[in-house]
Amino acid sequence: MYKDVQLFINGEWTASVSGRTIDVVNPATEEVIGKIAHAGREDLDRALEAAKKGFETWRNISAFERSKIMRHAANLLRERADDVARLMTLEQGKPLPEAKMETLGAADTIDWFAEEARRTYGRLVPARVPGAYQMVIKEPVGPVAAFTPWNFPINQVVRKMSAALAAGCSIIVKAPEETPASPAELIRAYADAGVPAGVINLVYGVPAEISEYLIPHPVIKKISFTGSTPVGKQLAALAGQHMKRATMELGGHAPAMVFDDADIDAAAKQLAAAKFRNAGQVCVSPTRFLVQKGVFNAFVDKFVTYAEQLKVGNGIDAGTTMGPVANKRRIPALESLIDDAVSQGAQLRTGGKRIGDKGYFFQPTVLTNVPLSARVMNDEPFGPLALINPFDTLDEVIDEANRLPFGLAAYAFAKSAHTKHALAARVESGMLTINHLGLAIPELPFGGIKDSGYGSEGGTEAIEAYVNTKLVTQLDV
Ligand code: NAD
Repeated sequence: MYKDVQLFINGEWTASVSGRTIDVVNPATEEVIGKIAHAGREDLDRALEAAKKGFETWRNISAFERSKIMRHAANLLRERADDVARLMTLEQGKPLPEAKMETLGAADTIDWFAEEARRTYGRLVPARVPGAYQMVIKEPVGPVAAFTPWNFPINQVVRKMSAALAAGCSIIVKAPEETPASPAELIRAYADAGVPAGVINLVYGVPAEISEYLIPHPVIKKISFTGSTPVGKQLAALAGQHMKRATMELGGHAPAMVFDDADIDAAAKQLAAAKFRNAGQVCVSPTRFLVQKGVFNAFVDKFVTYAEQLKVGNGIDAGTTMGPVANKRRIPALESLIDDAVSQGAQLRTGGKRIGDKGYFFQPTVLTNVPLSARVMNDEPFGPLALINPFDTLDEVIDEANRLPFGLAAYAFAKSAHTKHALAARVESGMLTINHLGLAIPELPFGGIKDSGYGSEGGTEAIEAYVNTKLVTQLDV
């Protein structure tokens, strides 16, 4: 039931000019399940031409009308959610209920941005000179190039695309080659809802070749990238050289701080669920669990129990609660991080190994007492790997939370008002949740600071990234 995926350029599904394709592999079976068209220069030139024309069309359609088309796309995606989720599980590995939740969540995201489209307000600033009108106008920035990864194949695209379309921009999406079919279905829902030809374009190929061509290209006015910090820095530098606006949603290494006075059951259950969701391949995944000494042993026991009852398997099978990691290269990456930590004195409490030799399954893994010098305490593990270390004091845990150059998500469980205020004031992160895990919903800002990037992909802030501010001051004579 998996389909081969074509490029979408100027309102048409099309093979690449060269006819080249890339294989798609199911990470649960290692079988080749389909092919995608591989875009070359000529295809990119066609997409750029289409995006240029599409921008002129779309910016001249009223925000009210754009909003209606977007809401129609959201409804189509909801109607098709079962089929789309299946494609996502086959190509990415996540359990079917997670894939369905992501698809339905994407529909909610479209609805949110459809509403925001109608509220891209400017303002009128009182003038010093009688008879003058000082107008602050918001205009769409222009054609956008978006680069998205494979961990949330639809969610990563829908945030960028919906904010861009709401603002009146056209877009070229370079979606992930590993997980191409489900994002293509998002594009299809938008196209079927009536987005005009050229406004949305979809390409796949060699990521570096595409970004090196699109970012400097004069048609493109804005870049949005989600992926690793090293690649983000390269792309941000290229965008800077060409004075292009950019949003960068990069890596994280989230601290999860659990204090003696916290509800330990709730903390262990919610944090473990968050850790192993999507097999840990989440930029906001809690990673450094920092637990106050009085509750350390109790927390570790509960966390390990949770990890050991997970049912790891093919995401298509009913009852699977954790799928494989999404690609082969995550396995040696995880093994090497675990070996390094254990060789430096970390204790392996559960897991630590690949499961079987067919499919990229990895055991939910918990390490405790991990030295700060271990690579995994510094590099994003991006897999089902939890690191749990004890701490004594509030100052000590805030220092550790802020030690790394990342600043994406942070989590805490505590009851003391003093502790909660201190965390809110002093933790260096774009997002902090205390006593629950309510992140990543469309109406909330989503983004990082420091090496985790800049810009927001949620809330009213997200539209700002796709508009220019223009001042017009006019004197009535
Ligand atoms: P990677 O750094 O090679 O690729 C990450 C993503 O960036 C992929 O989607 C890839 O296609 C894209 N990419 C890579 N080079 C690019 C370029 N020059 N131009 C445009 N796009 C480019 O790593 P990977 O092996 O695919 O994933 C592992 C690491 O990536 C993880 O450790 C994690 O840090 C990061 N990652 C982050 C997110 C996120 O949500 N922030 C998602 C996926 C991967």
